[in-house]
Amino acid sequence: MTFVVGLTGGIASGKTTVANLFHDQFGIEIVDADVAAREVVEPGSEGLQALESRYGNKVLLPDGRLNRSELREIIFSDEHEKQWVNQLLHPLIRRRMLEQLENINSAYALLVIPLMVENGLQSMADRVLVIDVNEKVQLERTMQRDHVSEQQARSILAAQANREQRLAIADDVVKNDAKNQKLLPQITELHQKYLALCRENL
Ligand code: ATP
Repeated sequence: MTFVVGLTGGIASGKTTVANLFHDQFGIEIVDADVAAREVVEPGSEGLQALESRYGNKVLLPDGRLNRSELREIIFSDEHEKQWVNQLLHPLIRRRMLEQLENINSAYALLVIPLMVENGLQSMADRVLVIDVNEKVQLERTMQRDHVSEQQARSILAAQANREQRLAIADDVVKNDAKNQKLLPQITELHQKYLALCRENL
């Protein structure tokens, strides 16, 4: 079984930036929860069929793909439906990630799960790596990248786990407050550490 490093962090903390460095510098393969979440509702999937059975074809776009804004609308206005959708999709997403982890060819896998704390998914990883930024930097990067107001950025942050909750599940931490060039030394050191841990686990 592949050694799995779970990677998490809040919005705009730098998860993609860090995961790309592991991949581009060291060839580490990535399994991404957001990608898995899209795949389990692709046309023809069990997930999309179940959504269509419950909500009818209003949750489908004319080309047969999921109408995400319609589904968002349904779950936003009804907590019961939100739970139903989560109970349908979360096990499918988890199963999909496990399947993808079985097909990893690099020394270890990076499992990127943005909402790891919120969904209690840290048990899927052998080790948890948290990307940590201070709130000021996180707000600035969110506003700049997503073109949202400070108030909107603050409400997104408030809906997620906070910095302390994330750090509480961390085995390792990458600090990403500074500019990009500070990341590579941290990632190189972690990569060496993970290779050593993989050897121990053989
Ligand atoms: P999300 O989960 O919200 O998609 P993320 O955690 O994957 O975000 P990234 O997309 O990697 O975060 O980074 C968020 C933004 O911050 C991007 O615009 C990225 O270019 C920028 N950024 C990330 N790290 C740094 C850094 N060290 N210096 C400057 N900008 C950075």
